Amino acid sequence: MVTFTTRFAPSPTGPLHLGHAYSALLAHDMSRAAGGQFLLRIEDIDQTRCKPEWEQKIIDDLSWLGVRWDAPPLRQFDRLTAYQAALDQLWSRGLLYPCACTRRDITAAASAPQEGAEPLIGPDGLVYPGTCRPENGPIQGPRPDNIALRLNMARAMEAIPEITFVETGQCTMGHSDKITVAAQEMIQTVGDVVLSRRDFPGSYHLSVVLDDAAQGVTEVIRGKDLFEATKIHILLQILMRIPSPVYHHHRLIRDSNGKRLAKRDDARAIATFRAEGKGPDDIRAMVGL
Ligand code: GLU
Repeated sequence: MVTFTTRFAPSPTGPLHLGHAYSALLAHDMSRAAGGQFLLRIEDIDQTRCKPEWEQKIIDDLSWLGVRWDAPPLRQFDRLTAYQAALDQLWSRGLLYPCACTRRDITAAASAPQEGAEPLIGPDGLVYPGTCRPENGPIQGPRPDNIALRLNMARAMEAIPEITFVETGQCTMGHSDKITVAAQEMIQTVGDVVLSRRDFPGSYHLSVVLDDAAQGVTEVIRGKDLFEATKIHILLQILMRIPSPVYHHHRLIRDSNGKRLAKRDDARAIATFRAEGKGPDDIRAMVGL
């Protein structure tokens, strides 16, 4: 029987701050209220920014907050074989292509004058202008390493008329909680997203989808800053034939100027509040729980 299973998935690139605490506590409270499971996942694919010290501190702060996980944490760095297998499968179906563009190349190509259109911003920044996309069908041969791989969105959407998912959080549209995105919108406003990085066989989108499936996650509870990424995640679930969880995008905790909290905002770090003698209930009150 599938029970309510959710997770908190921090990237150990800085201290746990109020925004993370809210996300973790909300997911934890919702899983406990549903008699379900709560899991922890360490999203450490970006080895240039992730540090074991941060991971230890995040785990320590979560424990202090009273958050308990029902299985040992999953680390993305231990999941390379699963990511590689998925990439091999997508590559052999002609859905990926190598891309050597730098950020600067993409900015230059996207802002070159083309029929007067403004460059579009998608869930990952500028929508990829297609510089490296092969014109004459998929590239044959084995999947190349050490180069980024992009999803050919138009090809991926060929047999999928639209993407739909269930949203139970803040991002519901009107009274409906079923979000629908047409194929054309995916091609134009999301575009060819990166599924494998030059330095790592995977990307945020690929890993998060495979890991949610591997952990049996039925409810993804996360900040509404990730709402736009969800359509990519649903598409990947369809392409890889794995079940889609229900999504709950929650409000973001902002600082006193209304700005979103960033990892570097040490003033809002849980460790700072702990050092000042605050307790877990104070933190709950601060985030409105
Ligand atoms: N690792 C992501 C973050 O720290 C969260 C990913 C997710 O919840 O899907 O922002």
